[in-house]
Amino acid sequence: MKIVHTVKEVRETINNWKKEGKTIGLVPTMGYLHEGHQSLIKASVAGNDKTVVSVFVNPTQFGPNEDYASYPRDLKKDAALCEATGADLIFNPEPEEMYPDRFCSYVNITGLSDALCGKSRPIHFKGVCTVVSKLFNIVTPDRAYFGEKDAQQLAIIRRMVKDLNFPLEIVGCPIIREEDGLAKSSRNTYLNTEERKAALILSKSIFAGKEMVENGETDANAVVARMKEIINSEPLAVIDYVEMVNMDTMKNIDTIEGSVLCAIAVKIGKTRLIDNFISIENTPASTSGE
Ligand code: AMP
Repeated sequence: MKIVHTVKEVRETINNWKKEGKTIGLVPTMGYLHEGHQSLIKASVAGNDKTVVSVFVNPTQFGPNEDYASYPRDLKKDAALCEATGADLIFNPEPEEMYPDRFCSYVNITGLSDALCGKSRPIHFKGVCTVVSKLFNIVTPDRAYFGEKDAQQLAIIRRMVKDLNFPLEIVGCPIIREEDGLAKSSRNTYLNTEERKAALILSKSIFAGKEMVENGETDANAVVARMKEIINSEPLAVIDYVEMVNMDTMKNIDTIEGSVLCAIAVKIGKTRLIDNFISIENTPASTSGE
């Protein structure tokens, strides 16, 4: 497995692979990899001849008061995980390689990015869509893999790929959790022992909401109210949002029908964590821009 830092090096490797007729999977990440990322890499290795993992803490998706500087980084450990999982290439650019002087072209997606995380992180999805578009153009993968952990991001990327005719397939992968239920996240490392315990309130409320829906509850507001009640029972938890939205529009719903995303963002101390469950009727497993 190779680690490269420049666009030129990625393109050279990709060109050679394409000449050999190899298919390519891309797993975009911000590094500090865990089993959640690893599940995406595994899916890519299983579905493609070659797998590229990008490891890049993308500055344009962080707001001014967010954790860009303190975001955990450990390329050595990431490389070991990628290698052990069968990845072929890590692309680990410096910010200047992705955003050289006078950079001023952005990909923005309207509507979908105003809801949920977009409310408290107004520039976030513009940064995500811009960096993901750049990665698609640099790596030109056949397939790209994203986690349902970031369900709004996945919905936005699917929309962007359709709208802008990116010739690749987006593959969504299920949320990987710790044994006690907490969704795996690089940000879990910020939690101290007491906060780590308190953070379980996210998955507890998610499981309770999911159970209500599975048992036939169709009143979205009743589910949201119960989930808020559970989260508010934890003194260290401060709710950013608990919402049920239509999967395609990200608009709030009153009645649970069709494909629904129930998403939450909760602050435990200074750490903002997200989790969700999806209630599906006929949602495709993958989306293509062709
Ligand atoms: P990040 O490094 O946090 O930007 O995440 C990179 C990719 O890994 C995104 O597509 C995430 O949705 C996915 N991911 C992160 N955590 C998990 C998890 N616990 N389960 C599944 N996918 C995940």
